[in-house]
Amino acid sequence: ATPTALMVGTGCGAKMGVLIKNGEVLEAVNDVKTVVFDKTGTITEGQPKVTDVVGDEQRVLTVAASLEEASEHPLAAAILKRAKALNLTGQTAQQFQAVEGKGVQAVLGGQTAVVGNHKLLADFKFDAAMEQREAALQDAGKTVVYVGVDDRIIGMIAIQDVPKETSKQAIADLKARGLKTVMLTGDNERVAKAVANEVGIDQVIADVLPSDKADHVQALQKSGKVAFVGDGINDAPALTVADVGIAMGSGTDVAIDAGGIVLVKNDLRDVDRALALSRKTFNRIK
Ligand code: ADP
Ligand code: MG
Repeated sequence: ATPTALMVGTGCGAKMGVLIKNGEVLEAVNDVKTVVFDKTGTITEGQPKVTDVVGDEQRVLTVAASLEEASEHPLAAAILKRAKALNLTGQTAQQFQAVEGKGVQAVLGGQTAVVGNHKLLADFKFDAAMEQREAALQDAGKTVVYVGVDDRIIGMIAIQDVPKETSKQAIADLKARGLKTVMLTGDNERVAKAVANEVGIDQVIADVLPSDKADHVQALQKSGKVAFVGDGINDAPALTVADVGIAMGSGTDVAIDAGGIVLVKNDLRDVDRALALSRKTFNRIK
């Protein structure tokens, strides 16, 4: 590629809201075989909302909100918002602890309370009816967290984050180009599959710890160049390891710094537009 063609290419990108940090990135885009997406905030809106509360709603939400007060997770924001809408006031939590990929725990009025998934509540007794309800909610694309006090489960909360309006079209465009699409998420497999089906993603890798995202990208690189699209702090290692790191403009600064391309308009269809631009730029010069 001549310097002029590259400048024209990156300039065209900037005009459509696709910031390309350098010509090397634009060239790498041309050879991408697989596009890997983070789920929350990338494929979905990133504004999860509480849709269902199983158990004594006031008690379940009060306990959950008391713990989530100290958490910065998007799920926490959803729970706090719902508790506030119902005018519930939390208790003061002590010895708060966030457990990566699992949930949160703390002491509330002398009792140990937890909010999280099965991995966090490994020692609890789950009854079959509750697990059935959990599976049904997850199949509807909702993330389910259990709420436990001492060693009893007092209920669960279902939280939904809907796909962005353009996600489905964006995936279809990439697949039409012959690319493989993958979702990489810390969320549960049922939820991930439900969302993936909704937008047409080929493969799901779920229950991934934030610290393992980059390893999964490296494994996928064995079958060709990989682009990773993400927005979170925990996406930065994957954005760096990928052949092309694509950060959402609405994402965290850490993600934006790690990405070689930034989608200013937060429109996933711009991934395909960046591919088209790369082809155009590099075919012109050969
Ligand atoms: P992701 O950002 O892809 O959802 P995380 O690793 O942040 O992945 O979270 C994975 C899972 O861990 C969540 O789906 C949830 O079950 C549990 N979890 C994490 N943080 C919290 C929290 N603050 N409250 C409740 N559950 C949580
Ligand atoms: Mg995210």
